[in-house]
Amino acid sequence: MKAARFYKANEPLKIEDVPQPKPGPGEVLVAVRAAGLCGTDLHIAIEGTIPTMTQPITLGHEAAGVVAEVGAGVSEWKVGDRVAVFPNIACGECYACVSGREALCLKSRILGVQADGAFAEYLLVPARTLVRLSDSISFEVGAILTDAVSTAYHAVVCRGSVQRGEAVVVIGCGGVGHHGVLWAKQRGAAPIIAVDISEGALRQAQEAGADYILNPVNADAPKSVRALTGSVGADCALEFVGRAETVTTAMKCLKRGGRAVIVGVGQDRVALPPLQAFVGSELSLIASLGFHRADLEEIISMVDSGKVNVSGSVTETVPLEQINEAMRQLTERKGEQVRTVIRIESLRNNSSFA
Ligand SMILES: [Zn+2]
Ligand SMILES: [Zn+2]
Repeated sequence: MKAARFYKANEPLKIEDVPQPKPGPGEVLVAVRAAGLCGTDLHIAIEGTIPTMTQPITLGHEAAGVVAEVGAGVSEWKVGDRVAVFPNIACGECYACVSGREALCLKSRILGVQADGAFAEYLLVPARTLVRLSDSISFEVGAILTDAVSTAYHAVVCRGSVQRGEAVVVIGCGGVGHHGVLWAKQRGAAPIIAVDISEGALRQAQEAGADYILNPVNADAPKSVRALTGSVGADCALEFVGRAETVTTAMKCLKRGGRAVIVGVGQDRVALPPLQAFVGSELSLIASLGFHRADLEEIISMVDSGKVNVSGSVTETVPLEQINEAMRQLTERKGEQVRTVIRIESLRNNSSFA
């Protein structure tokens, strides 16, 4: 089968023929139809800032497709079922997994980082990673639901508990932050203030439902947020960048009793405000890591029932053969695309899974 293999940072992925994996007990082989291209892939393949477990490795962690083969003992899936793949191969046994918080699994392996991923004709995963994809949802949309959309959902809904009428600030409006705006809108937050240094990302945020957009290059974000919220500040500020400076900005945007939710990951050391301000205003600083399998199930049912529309988020689809070009473009034109999806058409079995 064809697969896009990563050997070394700053070198193009190699589209190679590799042996098609065979599902063992409890495993399922998925014929990948669509796989989202993510900032994580760029960090691995272009910047070299996220190390992979092995080289070469097939990248790609945002997958949707159809079940092509099931291993022994798998009774809940059959050939031809449409699926989205929860990208975290969690152990299923540790205290985090048992409580449904797979993102915190002690032995978690992420597809396309610690295990062969989705930029291939076929993807081998444990059956427990599969989530049923409704017929109403295209494979392209199904693919992006498995990371960008769900990481933002987990931050806004589960960790931020954003409520109707709350003032929300979204700092960093790239692929994940963009969906932070979308979910805040879905929750009925108002006003929603989007902050980014990319004018393209701000335009897209406005389309996703931001009431105001701020470019910190020309405006002091905390001051502007206060001005836009009747001198009060935001109920919730979500940070999708992963830098000390933007975490500080998030805290400064809050009203008394407000919550800052940090999604961005990085090496920066972050200082709390003076305790007099932090405790005195009863602020909350909340981390949000990825998302859990139950989040993905909930999102699929919400998209299926029309409670949220993310079809505008797939801004480009390209065939697997053009993946290197797509990655280059994503690096160069940051902010213009919300999500690029790699389309994968298997050479075999095409007729049986229309
Ligand atoms: Zn991703
Ligand atoms: Zn676990």
